[in-house]
Amino acid sequence: MRQERWEGIPEDLARTAEFHGHLCPGLVLGYRAVKLALEKGGWERPQDEELICVVENDSCSVDAVQYLAGCTFGKGNLFFRDYGKQVFTFASRKEPGRGVRVSLRPHAWPSPGETADPEERRRKAMERFLSLPPEELFRVDEVEVELPPAAEIRPSVLCANCGEPTMETRTVVEGDRVLCIPCSRGWIPPWKARKGEGTQSS
Ligand SMILES: [Zn+2]
Ligand SMILES: [Zn+2]
Repeated sequence: MRQERWEGIPEDLARTAEFHGHLCPGLVLGYRAVKLALEKGGWERPQDEELICVVENDSCSVDAVQYLAGCTFGKGNLFFRDYGKQVFTFASRKEPGRGVRVSLRPHAWPSPGETADPEERRRKAMERFLSLPPEELFRVDEVEVELPPAAEIRPSVLCANCGEPTMETRTVVEGDRVLCIPCSRGWIPPWKARKGEGTQSS
């Protein structure tokens, strides 16, 4: 079924949908945004962390950024700003300062007036997002970007309450104890809660 539904779409979009789990309008938007941004920036999919992306939403579209552009949460070259906007800013650490900002144009989504049925509206949106020329879908601006600091590997220390290894830059010092953030806020580790040991340190 899945194969049939995905027939007729570009091969790299099909792979992106495989990664995401389904094909949806948001994913198609992300797919188009990534392709456009990489083309405008003259960037290839990076092997490492030189390409970074700042996304201004945490919707389906971001999975296209992770899969196609290689900007991922795990590698630390994906930065999330919770602004609720389909805006994607790409930059390369190889060319500091220069960035490409791709933002969804107003009225890109079919208006609810066009069809009342949500499924039909989704289908229409997907068709439109696939067929519109990229510049009609997105506005593209060359922008100056201050690059977020590169991902760092810091040593871990053991939390005095739960004993879990915790990156030292994410610890909280309380008196003579070094705690992880949850423990500093009163978290009771599940094994302590089960034994009824409460929050006392072990
Ligand atoms: Zn989706
Ligand atoms: Zn802890």
